[in-house]
Amino acid sequence: MSKMNIHTNDQVLVISGEKDKRKGKQAKVLSVDTAAHKVVVEGVAMVKRHQKSRAQGQPGGIIDKETAIDVSNVMLVCPKCNKPTRVGHAVVEKVYRDDTKKMKSVRVCKECGAQIDA
Ligand SMILES: [Zn+2]
Repeated sequence: MSKMNIHTNDQVLVISGEKDKRKGKQAKVLSVDTAAHKVVVEGVAMVKRHQKSRAQGQPGGIIDKETAIDVSNVMLVCPKCNKPTRVGHAVVEKVYRDDTKKMKSVRVCKECGAQIDA
């Protein structure tokens, strides 16, 4: 199983791309494809798509839609220090409501050391 360091709803910084306008853009991850190592980032890599009408009486048309980009093109923005960062990992002990304990791997910001996942 391959696991990516970028998850849905993460804030990321686009660090490279075929088009310069993508670079430097900060936005939210809409979805991830772990198998393909790709992410869809809000407002990034937009293409025009033809859309058929979904409901009767509603015209189809051309809409702007995000396409997936390679995960290596983005960097996680730490929610604690707001800096783009490489992702580290730490194993923490999580205590559940029924007092059971479980070791859990969480992402850690390499800039400030903050734990990113709850
Ligand atoms: Zn941080």
